[in-house]
Amino acid sequence: MSALLFDTFTGRLRLEGLLTTRTALHIGAGGGGDPLATDLPVVRDGAGRPYIPGSSLKGVLRSAAEALFHGAPFADRSPRPSLSACRIMAGLPCVTHQRVEEVRKEKDLENRTRKEAGVPLLDVGREVAETVWAESCSVCRLFGSLELASRVRFPDLPLAGDLPPLELRNGVGIDRDKGLAANGVLYDFEAVPPGIPFRLTVVLDNPDDADAGLLLYLFHELDQGNLALGGKSSRGLGLVQVQWESIVETRIREENPFAELLSRRDLLKPAEKTETPVAEAAGPKLPATGDPAAWQTLADLILELKEADKSFLGQKASERGLTKANLNERLGLGLGERKAGKPWDFIVERLAGCGFLVERHGKWIPAVLAATEERKTEAPSGRPALVLQEVIDRFVGALGRRWEEAC
Ligand SMILES: [Zn+2]
Repeated sequence: MSALLFDTFTGRLRLEGLLTTRTALHIGAGGGGDPLATDLPVVRDGAGRPYIPGSSLKGVLRSAAEALFHGAPFADRSPRPSLSACRIMAGLPCVTHQRVEEVRKEKDLENRTRKEAGVPLLDVGREVAETVWAESCSVCRLFGSLELASRVRFPDLPLAGDLPPLELRNGVGIDRDKGLAANGVLYDFEAVPPGIPFRLTVVLDNPDDADAGLLLYLFHELDQGNLALGGKSSRGLGLVQVQWESIVETRIREENPFAELLSRRDLLKPAEKTETPVAEAAGPKLPATGDPAAWQTLADLILELKEADKSFLGQKASERGLTKANLNERLGLGLGERKAGKPWDFIVERLAGCGFLVERHGKWIPAVLAATEERKTEAPSGRPALVLQEVIDRFVGALGRRWEEAC
């Protein structure tokens, strides 16, 4: 447990990607996503470019986490379930300042007794921190509270591309006190149009798989349109798409901190597969009969042609000195006179038998090309979806296991 405390650094998870507006987005310059905010302009940085404040994003995700854990079936769990949320917005935090002072006094008192007895003293600061951690809800442990530092950071999201022309929209003036449309008041508000990408970075310190799972789950909710950013969300504004480009895990190596203090791993990068080297597939694996150079000539030709088309091969092979008359002998096929006239079926059979050729969609193609082709279909553009799914399975799976343990 203590490894997860804010005063000990064990590792970091850094998530980077793009957050792109699906519908118009209005985050008023005056506030962090108050749905009733009537500020006209959107929030801009020093250069006049609109951005998304990290605090707005954090606020939306935190509220969603609280709502999730307050709802059934989480709400009726044991008094301190491992998936829970306090009601910090209603002034009911899981750990109050009063409780912290109480624990501090207890530990001070214990130290007095220890001093008299000549027993080593407690580190009061650490003892208090551990108690706060133990008594904090899941949401405070991740997003922080007055008594606990946040372990997740959301830097402001800058525009990822060129400055878009902003939209001006009509809105009905709202009476902030009554939450009703104020009589006849109309105003315009500025909004970022749909399709505008912002650069998203999230940093989670001392990541616990289940907490990372909660975070990924919340971003999934955002991506699915179940959560909205900024104001006017009741009018369909603030829906965004989330695309992860890199998820890098950095952990302190316990075994040898001096040799390699930190180890970094890009979780979205496919694990390196041990593949048969190209040279091996094309070279040593060719049939052992006859003249190896003749087999190699044939292999090179098939690699050039990208497939072993029997009718075409005969013509091309004879250009390289492998004629119908000498194939049987040079390749050591050992065919009788009758079969020697049509050697290609036997040659393809031999090459398939040694693994040089494989059948794909009715064609015989070099195994090495088939492997490349398969890798291409796995990864159509940069990051394979499969790998992202593995990352989600690890973290969201851990969240699920924690839920099962709590039952
Ligand atoms: Zn809490």
